[in-house]
Amino acid sequence: MDIKEIKSKFPIFINKAKGKKLVYLDSANSSQKPKVLIDRISNFYSKEFSNVGRSMHSLAVTATNRFEETRDLIKKFINAKFREEIIFTKNATEGINLIATTYGEKFIKDQDEIIITELEHHANYVPWHFLRKRKGAVIKFAECDKHGEVSIDSIKKLITNKTKLIAVTHVSNVTGTILPLNKIIDLAKTKKIPVLIDGCQGAPHLKLDVQKLDCDFYVMSCHKMYGPTGVGVLYAKKKWLDELPPYQGGGGMIDEVKKDDISYPESPTKFEAGTLQTAEIVGFAESIRFIENIGMKNITEHEKEITEYGLEKLKKNNSVSIIGDPKERGAIISFTIKGIHPHDIATILDDDGVAIRAGHHCCQILHDKMGIPATARASLGIYNSKEDIDILNESINKCNKVFNN
Ligand code: PLP
Repeated sequence: MDIKEIKSKFPIFINKAKGKKLVYLDSANSSQKPKVLIDRISNFYSKEFSNVGRSMHSLAVTATNRFEETRDLIKKFINAKFREEIIFTKNATEGINLIATTYGEKFIKDQDEIIITELEHHANYVPWHFLRKRKGAVIKFAECDKHGEVSIDSIKKLITNKTKLIAVTHVSNVTGTILPLNKIIDLAKTKKIPVLIDGCQGAPHLKLDVQKLDCDFYVMSCHKMYGPTGVGVLYAKKKWLDELPPYQGGGGMIDEVKKDDISYPESPTKFEAGTLQTAEIVGFAESIRFIENIGMKNITEHEKEITEYGLEKLKKNNSVSIIGDPKERGAIISFTIKGIHPHDIATILDDDGVAIRAGHHCCQILHDKMGIPATARASLGIYNSKEDIDILNESINKCNKVFNN
């Protein structure tokens, strides 16, 4: 693969960052955007714009068709069985909130249990906490060990006859741990417990087949997938679509409205209230085509190679401690440097044009467990190369000189 050629498709890299070449290592936060996406959104607004699913004029019909084409592409991309299993949300966070609210309303009673892990992003904890406050649900945390792994046994021992849902991340946004989803879902199936996967850090990097995976719900954020902000996808297995009540009420999600009652259409309309992010959803089709043109297998392999190179390099750096050492790891390396606060690391690296994230990465439970308030995190995308890692490493050395000499 010609990474230089792929990188040239992202206009942001034409610009300098503080006079230096931009080394973007914050894709777990949000990926950069290829020109095909930017152009598609601009073109849609310039030449094709209309709201979708409402008016009869030809602009509206064409816009609706383009919008629905994106749904079809996503269906194929994740190998869902039915197009109505693809529900547009504003991000992964909203997808989890949708399930916590609707599934919670219908199926969760006082003292019912939800299992999550200590690795979860706040997006996969706070919505369940709301349910704890509202309905008296109990949240149980499967333990993560010193390698950053969550074993199947740590989940197994939490399951009781009150367990109503298991909600786990696909890939940790701190340690990069890839969770043993097949084992977790197999275990859950034997007990008839539905499983929700937070796929924020999985969908941009790993080949997905939701039918094979056999999860009940899978959420993703398109802005982490070379796509626009403001768009997320919730995959929900067909069997849930009629069972779950609507999430938000308003225009676009009704069947018949009378003074004494309201009926609702089928999914996805039932779950997509109000005007959605029309241009962005139309544009996201280009991001999927972009990923598919490169090939997800190639993306995974390339990122694995750069991650391994990064780990090897940083492990040789005595002042650096890598957070977690999981056997199966995505394209994320979190670290600390002795004597330097992660925010200072990020600020110094930024002077060299190196963009990383520092903080608790919305994972306070995990940071509390590790006994550190914050970490620095380098996360990769398809545009990163070994040269980026070399620049990161040099910049870390500079950091050391500034603080530790
Ligand atoms: N889950 C994980 C694992 C994440 O890494 C993130 C974002 O970083 C989220 C959920 C939330 O994503 P969003 O803010 O796009 O909803």
